[in-house]
Amino acid sequence: MKLISVSGSQTINMDKNSLLRKIPKVDEILSILELDCCIESISQEMLVSAIRAVLDELRTAILHGALNSPDLLLPERIAADCKARLHFAERRSLIPVINGTGVVLHTNLGRAILSSKAANSALQAGRSYSTLEYSLENGTRGSRHEHVENLLKHITGAEAAMVVNNNAAAVMLILSTMVAQKETIISRGELVEIGGAFRVPDIMVQCGGILKEVGTTNKTRISDYSAAISPVTGALLKVHTSNFKLIGFTESVDITELCALGAANSIPVIHDIGSGLLYDVGIDCLKNEPNVLSSIKAGTDIVSFSGDKLLGGPQAGIIVGKKKYIEACKSNPLARALRVDKLTLAALEETLFAWRDTSIALREIPTLAMLNSNALERHERAVRLKARLSEIHSQVVLKVLSDDCRVGGGSVPGEVQQGYAVSIDIPGISPDKLDDAFRHAPIPIIGHIKDDHYLINCCTVFEADFDIIASELSMAIKEKLQ
Ligand SMILES: *Cc1c(COP(=O)(O)O)cnc(C)c1O
Repeated sequence: MKLISVSGSQTINMDKNSLLRKIPKVDEILSILELDCCIESISQEMLVSAIRAVLDELRTAILHGALNSPDLLLPERIAADCKARLHFAERRSLIPVINGTGVVLHTNLGRAILSSKAANSALQAGRSYSTLEYSLENGTRGSRHEHVENLLKHITGAEAAMVVNNNAAAVMLILSTMVAQKETIISRGELVEIGGAFRVPDIMVQCGGILKEVGTTNKTRISDYSAAISPVTGALLKVHTSNFKLIGFTESVDITELCALGAANSIPVIHDIGSGLLYDVGIDCLKNEPNVLSSIKAGTDIVSFSGDKLLGGPQAGIIVGKKKYIEACKSNPLARALRVDKLTLAALEETLFAWRDTSIALREIPTLAMLNSNALERHERAVRLKARLSEIHSQVVLKVLSDDCRVGGGSVPGEVQQGYAVSIDIPGISPDKLDDAFRHAPIPIIGHIKDDHYLINCCTVFEADFDIIASELSMAIKEKLQ
């Protein structure tokens, strides 16, 4: 019944009409779908509306002459189409992926991953009532900051602490509390943009303060800061240039020197250290990264950092420092708008518990564990993944290649660690095609292409992911090789 040669409008109409008559009834499709156990969880309303949508599309296609085979109108075929659509509609958008990029803190892939204890703690906090703002001791209202304040004080040596939504929020809160209407002195080498529209000069304008820039892009000396101090100076600000590296003829003022200047002039020093490394954990590539403990020791009045970078916890902005400034930040109305939720606090408390002991932190916090693993361990993991994948298909060519591991997330720019990847070459499937197939797998794999080879970097892949990668590889081969 294909409309190969159409001689007159009469023929078309007749064929269209007979096709239209062949469209099954909603109930007929419904009765097929209701027998299918895979769609038990879907309500009758949703089934009916999916069926109607498919039937409407078929009707439109027939009327436009785009459908001319009655085979496409078989009830079983339409039911299968409805089922695929219902499954597609049930898909979630925020789903786990396997990180085969070798970038440990990948901002697009959610930065730090939680320890299992921290993730469980967030789950518990979400599934039950909690002591979020309740004091069990007094039976009265408590503070949401208390859950982590003592831990942060204990670990960093600070007098007080509070937590907000993220570090960008922390910086905003600090500046609008401490330096509104006043001048804040900052080095021209630290006027950074930290992703998106977060630029230090713009934030200062938002907060009603005035930025007093000193020094040059590559060199700023302590005398530049002291010459800029005046009666309207509200603070000295140091921002860690976490996402770029200035090399060559450079000079900057270290935090100890800046704190001495601040103290001598009774001006508070604010330090945005970005990454949230709480103290030196002895990982080689982090040796030049500023840490919170050292900054507090140097005498910094207020330090701010992220929860989901090197701290290895949930997204959060943490502020530690002198009690009078933290108290002022807590009572700023903006604090209410930037406040952190209970799932985050639960995960953060658990992560901070691990940080009380270096060896526990290195073992339990995935970010630190990944960065702490050595080249030999990484090589062995890549060899094990290669072995697991080699069972799948004789035509797949697998190799273990050297492939850098990076910290990422705007931390430690330029530093790479020795890492290893498994390269996967399949005759008849280009690296781009394989990349595409993996990105569309049930648990997507995000690898990368280097020198025309598809690579899965093993520094950021877990043993538990091996079976998933293997099954998704065999699916990709089945679909594309046959
Ligand atoms: C990452 C970073 C920020 C922003 O932190 P978020 O937690 O992403 O809001 C601010 N300052 C510095 C120095 C950073 O490295």
